[in-house]
Amino acid sequence: MNLHSPQPHRDLTAERLPHPLVIAGPCSAETEAQVVETAKALAATGRVHLLRAGIWKPRTRPQTFEGVGDDGLNWLVKARTESGLPICTEVANTRHVEACLEAGLDAVWIGARTTVSPFAVQEIAEALKGTNIPVLVKNPMHADLKLWIGAIERVQALVDGPVWALHRGFTGYQHKEFRNAPMWEVPIALRAEKPEVPVLCDPSHIGGRRDLLEPVAQKAMDLGMAGLMLEVHPTPSEAWSDAEQQITPERFVEMLDHLTIRAELPEGDLVDGLAALRMQMDSVDEQLVELLAARMDLARSIGQFKKEHGITILQLERWKQVFASRSRWGKDLRLGETFMMNLLEHVHNESIRVQTEVMNEKKSAE
Ligand code: PEP
Ligand code: MN
Repeated sequence: MNLHSPQPHRDLTAERLPHPLVIAGPCSAETEAQVVETAKALAATGRVHLLRAGIWKPRTRPQTFEGVGDDGLNWLVKARTESGLPICTEVANTRHVEACLEAGLDAVWIGARTTVSPFAVQEIAEALKGTNIPVLVKNPMHADLKLWIGAIERVQALVDGPVWALHRGFTGYQHKEFRNAPMWEVPIALRAEKPEVPVLCDPSHIGGRRDLLEPVAQKAMDLGMAGLMLEVHPTPSEAWSDAEQQITPERFVEMLDHLTIRAELPEGDLVDGLAALRMQMDSVDEQLVELLAARMDLARSIGQFKKEHGITILQLERWKQVFASRSRWGKDLRLGETFMMNLLEHVHNESIRVQTEVMNEKKSAE
């Protein structure tokens, strides 16, 4: 139900968006003063187009701070009045949408945990039917491009305003570096399939750590992404959610100043040409190298175990099994037989070299 149809903010519905479009604000609205203070500080930078603050927080585990709820809407509206910045928050069900439309928010976003559910997205799209405020669709938690596109299309089918995609990375059981693995090939593939949808990047949720925000934001700019969403808090380490990844307004400006904003490639070149495929390949290769490094780390640990228990490095039966299973996996994925054989030999030799090194290290340390 569309209770109220606010006038969409001119900048946000313009055919040509400011580049890069910058959305900033705290992970969560905590108090009225915190929201208003952040909004004023961000407005003063002159670098922000939209203020964000979560008020219904989808937390992974219960008994953590789950957001201030509807009160936060009034704080956001007050922040808009005092700062002049348009405002947005996350919606996860019909009631949230109705409350946001009633309060006259300038944009809303669908979070990663909601995008995974077509039922939830459909419900939200229906509640937003006919509105012309921008709707941002974050990628689903896992790297399912079709699910992301499906969510975008459900919203596009019902809203009159712009729909933007928001890349926040993909969750995994264990990530070494990032909170959510960026897997850049996924947003690139999205751009190739839906060239009309601006794709923004959320370095805060990808990085999960303050020091990773700048390199991730730079990478997004290098790939020609349309904008950035960054979590900014007046006192980040005291934040009630995502304390490790938020930055102060001062650091936010410094970071934006460091970024090299590259001239946008004409859409056609990136989307149709070799460039999009090469960028996807770069990202896959990056992951390939990371996986090889992870495999060698495991080889080192196994070497250590073998040394401590007096076991030989080469376990012939195990190697035969490894060789057979990997060759079969490769064949199922249409990888050439000789290629797989050579690759496995190389990987195995390197594992042996690494394990020998571990054994020798131990010897000299004794
Ligand atoms: C957020 O933006 O604060 C948030 C909860 O993000 P995500 O849905 O990407 O986890
Ligand atoms: Mn957050």
